[in-house]
Amino acid sequence: MTLVQDLQQVLDKNRVKSRLIDRYSYARDASFYRLIPRVVVQPNSPEEVAELFNYARRTKIPLVFRAAGTSLSGQSITDGILVEINQNWRGHYIPKTAESITLQPAVIGAHANNYLRPYGRKIGPDPASINAAYVGGIVANNASGMCCGVKDNSYHTIQSLKMVLPNGLILDSAAKNADQKLKTEAPEIHAGLLDLKHQIENNKTLRERIRDKYQRKNTMGYSLNAFLDYDTPIDILTHLLVGSEGTLGFISEITFKTLPDDPFKSAALLLFPDLFAAAAAVMPLKEAGAEALELMDRASLRSVENEPGMPPELKELPDAAAALLCEFQASAENTLHQKVNAGLAALKCLSLLFPPEFKDDPKIRAQYWKIRKGLLPSVGAVRKSGTTVIIEDICFRLKDLAPACVDLQDLFKTHGYDNAIIFGHAKDGNLHFVVTQEFADKSGVEQYRHFMADVIEMTAGKYDGALKAEHGTGRNMAPFVETEWGAEALNIMRQLKRLLDPDNILNPGVILTDDPQTYLKNIKPLPTVEAVVDSCIECGFCESWCPSADLTMTPRRRIATWREIKLLERGTGSERAIARELQRDYPYESVDTCAVDGLCALGCPVKIDTGKLAKHFRQESHPEWANKLADWTVDHFDSVVNGIRLGLTVAAPFAQVIGNKNAATLGSWLHKASFGKIPAWNRYTPGGAKVLPELPVDEPLDSKVETIVYFPSCLSRGMGTIPHEKHTKSVPEALIDLARAANISIRYPRQVNDLCCGTPYSSKGYHSALVKMAERVTESLWESTSHGKIPVVMDTSPCSYRIKTYDEILYGDALEKWRQLTIWDVVEFLHDSVLPKVKLTKVKGEAVLHPTCSTTKMDQEEKFLAIANACAETAVVPEHKGCCGFAGDRGFLLPELTASATHREAESVGHCKGDAGFYSASRTCEMGMSTATDQPYSSILVLVYRAVFGNQPT
Ligand SMILES: Cc1cc2nc3c(=O)[nH]c(=O)nc-3n(C[C@H](O)[C@H](O)[C@H](O)COP(=O)(O)OP(=O)(O)OC[C@H]3O[C@@H](n4cnc5c(N)ncnc54)[C@H](O)[C@@H]3O)c2cc1C
Ligand code: SF4
Ligand code: SF4
Repeated sequence: MTLVQDLQQVLDKNRVKSRLIDRYSYARDASFYRLIPRVVVQPNSPEEVAELFNYARRTKIPLVFRAAGTSLSGQSITDGILVEINQNWRGHYIPKTAESITLQPAVIGAHANNYLRPYGRKIGPDPASINAAYVGGIVANNASGMCCGVKDNSYHTIQSLKMVLPNGLILDSAAKNADQKLKTEAPEIHAGLLDLKHQIENNKTLRERIRDKYQRKNTMGYSLNAFLDYDTPIDILTHLLVGSEGTLGFISEITFKTLPDDPFKSAALLLFPDLFAAAAAVMPLKEAGAEALELMDRASLRSVENEPGMPPELKELPDAAAALLCEFQASAENTLHQKVNAGLAALKCLSLLFPPEFKDDPKIRAQYWKIRKGLLPSVGAVRKSGTTVIIEDICFRLKDLAPACVDLQDLFKTHGYDNAIIFGHAKDGNLHFVVTQEFADKSGVEQYRHFMADVIEMTAGKYDGALKAEHGTGRNMAPFVETEWGAEALNIMRQLKRLLDPDNILNPGVILTDDPQTYLKNIKPLPTVEAVVDSCIECGFCESWCPSADLTMTPRRRIATWREIKLLERGTGSERAIARELQRDYPYESVDTCAVDGLCALGCPVKIDTGKLAKHFRQESHPEWANKLADWTVDHFDSVVNGIRLGLTVAAPFAQVIGNKNAATLGSWLHKASFGKIPAWNRYTPGGAKVLPELPVDEPLDSKVETIVYFPSCLSRGMGTIPHEKHTKSVPEALIDLARAANISIRYPRQVNDLCCGTPYSSKGYHSALVKMAERVTESLWESTSHGKIPVVMDTSPCSYRIKTYDEILYGDALEKWRQLTIWDVVEFLHDSVLPKVKLTKVKGEAVLHPTCSTTKMDQEEKFLAIANACAETAVVPEHKGCCGFAGDRGFLLPELTASATHREAESVGHCKGDAGFYSASRTCEMGMSTATDQPYSSILVLVYRAVFGNQPT
């Protein structure tokens, strides 16, 4: 039997992924290494993991776990079996006291904190990647961050773990008999751990070295402190798994002790004349009680100084300048101010370029943190195309921090790394530095080798520091564990690995290696492919935003696969054959199932919208006649909308006659039989729209009366109410009535029936049709608003967003006109213009909201929720809200995309009452959510209408 057939005996067929596109798309993590797995598997339970271990032991094929794949040292990739821990490992439990939280390993760190927020608590570890990294990866790497230091890292804040050992034994360290179970079922491990403990305890030098090294951050090698901190083998084992990078066992559940999340915070961006002065300020500020002290050199600041919202003084700084982002936190306001005063007193004796100013305003603090968190990606993004980004992570005693910074800068000069940057968690003596390196030929590899030799000598030799403080040893530092720790400690680590994983099946080559050159092998090529994605550093921050992640691809995997294809196309005959096979699967996996909602850009530190890559491919795939047809529809848009309206008007009674269930079955059959060309029909497909109510178009403006131009989207003009919607007012009727109730004069733009924001063309890659329509819309709005004098109101959020971003496609005269227009989304209009002028009677019960992706992108979620809170007794945005994946017409053509994108939100909606209704701000999103939840969604206009005019309008 083949590997795949074997694995299909252990897991369902659909959880054993062996197509080339699966293998190549998982070949990369956030590090600068790359390995192509033989197969990717997705176990659902500890028992399945145990079965996989048994299989790996029998066949000697290595297994590597992958959580969010944000590791930076090459520890979540493999050329063996990649075990993806994702969809089915996202559960959590919080006991009443919230003093602990139990999490499955694929919960995103930031989500754990969201669950704890209502209790005023948080988890300890706080890596900068917390919005993307999973707790399984956080614990397995012993990741730490800005504030947690050593005290609150995973090692010190886990309460218990559930685990699967390589011998297949499943253990829960919280169970009363856990140690006994280990002794009975794996006596050699139980005894072996005690033996290692005795070896360490009997070796004074080693004991003291361990004690000394773990006073600071250190993720080099295994957590040997576990042997000194704990007595029973089960406790030792539990803490050894922290930071074991998937080399000792699988973590199937984590219980963290939680910490209070201090609500009062104050931060300052302190600017110093040079790095030495900034580093020298760390100790006094730490003694004053600073929770975070993030160091940034001039080059780091330069990489972000042009970003929107950055403090203007950044651009003026002298070449040698450096910054410390200093934050104080407290449980009470007066304690905070005491701490800040202590910090200011400490700063009096230090030389700063500007007087220190501490800010409590969350928006300003968020801006400071944005600077810090964007550093690595920003450098990655501005690197020369084709070069690789390397981030290192070293740690010093605080007294050595300032001279070590200077030494490091000297090393950059010596080795020719002109664009290197230094930043880091200075409070803990933890420095990161980023260099960009060309690995295309041997000289690049040699440059890196010589540089690293000096860095290692300086860090581990001169200062006796740590070569990895928090990113894990990985394959990057595995050859240097002995250099840092010495032979005796390495010997203990090797014995430990042999004890738990004698067949070396778990992540071989990571943490420990016999190959001194391993850190120079399997280096990831980053070829230039398409300008819209070339700055991607494969950090993976975008993945959790993507609605197609659980169905086909994530943005990073889309980009990675395209890079692989381009590399293979330049290769040998067999490589080109692989490229052809990847090309065959790429369109569905990557292009068709991309919702082109651009949500990935919100997660991406360098704002890459991978949807643009999909649009680019769609555009390229259109034959000339299709482009012409699209252009033709622009000229006959009225007829297109009428056609949709008519089609839906006919389909709705037909469905009633044959029954919704039969109609859905027929629709699904026709959809499949036409290979997805006929849109899928379901019981939430709306009927045809009513004819637009009459409104003036070209009346003279009365400057004394508030006036808007109302541009009803083509969705509102074509689609009527969703079946089972209790409300019979159409979207245009509701908006017009509400505007009148608020004494706002309202008119349509010229040629309203010929207008569309252009989204249908944009999402399908019909660029010339999009531009043609955008120019027409701009001209019409220009005239109808008397050259931008009055605002335009849209009733559908994705359409508002499209028009608000016309600057991406217009130029010349049209662009100038567009710049003078004011476009309001329905949410802004209701919140800012209608609500203050109408009397509201709250609708009884709870309103459940689905903010559209565009609502999020336009930063309108707060207003959306505020509207609902004003109009209903309570309002809720369910957990795990995200893109519905409907994306204009994707939901019709690829219903599986919507189904996959909405399943988590739908689950959360299932726990909501929703007795005041379900609301969104786009007809297609409302359809998608209605289908997913089996609850009829309406426009937010309907909720406001009910609050203004009563509960049963018709
Ligand atoms: C831009 C950027 C900033 C970063 N900032 C920080 C930072 O501030 N601090 C920091 O510490 N790190 C940081 N990192 C590194 C990385 O994000 C963290 O180490 C993170 O904890 C990795 O989590 P993950 O879910 O991506 O795990 P992965 O990378 O998928 O896996 C990490 C390791 O854990 C193993 N593993 C995963 N799940 C399990 C499991 N259930 N059981 C056993 N082993 C498992 C994997 O095999 C691998 O060896 C950063 C990374 C990036 C790209
Ligand atoms: S697209 Fe952006 S967020 Fe996603 S992997 Fe690339 S750089 Fe990171
Ligand atoms: S545009 Fe949307 S679906 Fe496409 S990659 Fe980005 S987040 Fe995923």
